[in-house]
Amino acid sequence: MTVRAAVCTQLEKPLEVLDLELAEPRAGEVAVRIMASGICASDASVQKGALPSPLPIVLGHEGAGVIEAVGPGVTHLAAGDHVAVCAMPQCGHCYRCTRGQPGLCERGDGVLFSGALMDGSTRWRTADGVDVAQFVAAGTFAEQVVVPTISVVKIPADMPFAPASLLGCAVLTGVGAALNTAAIRPGGTVAVIGCGSVGLMAIQGARLAGAERIIAIDLVPAKLEIARAVGATDTLAAGEVDVLLAVKELTAGRGTDTTIEAVGAQVTVDQAIRMTGKGGEVVFVGAGTKGVRINVPQFTGLVGSAKTFKGCLFGSADTHRDIPRLVERYLAGELHLDVLVSRTYGLSAINEGLAAVTAGEVISAVVNLESLN
Ligand SMILES: [Zn+2]
Ligand SMILES: [Zn+2]
Repeated sequence: MTVRAAVCTQLEKPLEVLDLELAEPRAGEVAVRIMASGICASDASVQKGALPSPLPIVLGHEGAGVIEAVGPGVTHLAAGDHVAVCAMPQCGHCYRCTRGQPGLCERGDGVLFSGALMDGSTRWRTADGVDVAQFVAAGTFAEQVVVPTISVVKIPADMPFAPASLLGCAVLTGVGAALNTAAIRPGGTVAVIGCGSVGLMAIQGARLAGAERIIAIDLVPAKLEIARAVGATDTLAAGEVDVLLAVKELTAGRGTDTTIEAVGAQVTVDQAIRMTGKGGEVVFVGAGTKGVRINVPQFTGLVGSAKTFKGCLFGSADTHRDIPRLVERYLAGELHLDVLVSRTYGLSAINEGLAAVTAGEVISAVVNLESLN
């Protein structure tokens, strides 16, 4: 069948919306009609050449939609099921998955930047017969996609598609940083540096973990307002106040119990370490550029202050366990996902959406294939 998809054909060029031939799902795969897809900075990173990927490739790595068909042997999913498509396939059986580290799934990791599905091939082709790759075994900027079943999680039919489309990357990463990676104690003090989609979700994770004081830090006052609406108890505008001094004052001189760094810049990485108190933990979830370093004196910075540093990839999430829980909390009104959906675009306006996300104009943007096109 023919489907429309936004294809990156050349680096540093706008995506092209093309008609592609989509093959049937093979064993262990499903065809999903995409209703909404999140637009994430990582998509732009491929386009700029900062993340390795074969070309041409369909970008988009978090989405939500309806199963159209299942491949041979697929029994736990059926046509008509609503699903979220995740940024990482998690197999449930490999060394990492069976040790409680599915965010490092070895089968998932093996295909992340290959542009192919689990068997090394792709299901899209141009009209001229050229194979078109799928970003992280997904490629959700398309009307329909074939993905491995281990990349999708069933969601209830009353879960709206736009917020559901952000579950598979931004939401899992941010909430997971607080609920899975960090060890937040009820009554604890948490600072979150960076109030983009990941930071706003980390704030909510900290709230759900029972943190008493949640200090949100960002340069942009509008983002701090949203941070307060979703659970921050204190906000610091980084350009206007001395952040380290302010955190010290807010914590009776002790520093935080947990700091979640969701920016990845050298200045915020350094601040995160310094604002964390004795016995506290720093969770690094922001994706920094090559030169960003963690620099601390071994004794005073780590041993003598008994601090813990944790790297957080993909929210240390177990997609198959965590997504149903997050949906439940959204439907119960405990998790605010709609604040993330700043703007929606049709597939043909995908380049505007990518530009808005890259420029930081919006918290997150969503491609809506349900009603726009
Ligand atoms: Zn993402
Ligand atoms: Zn695995």
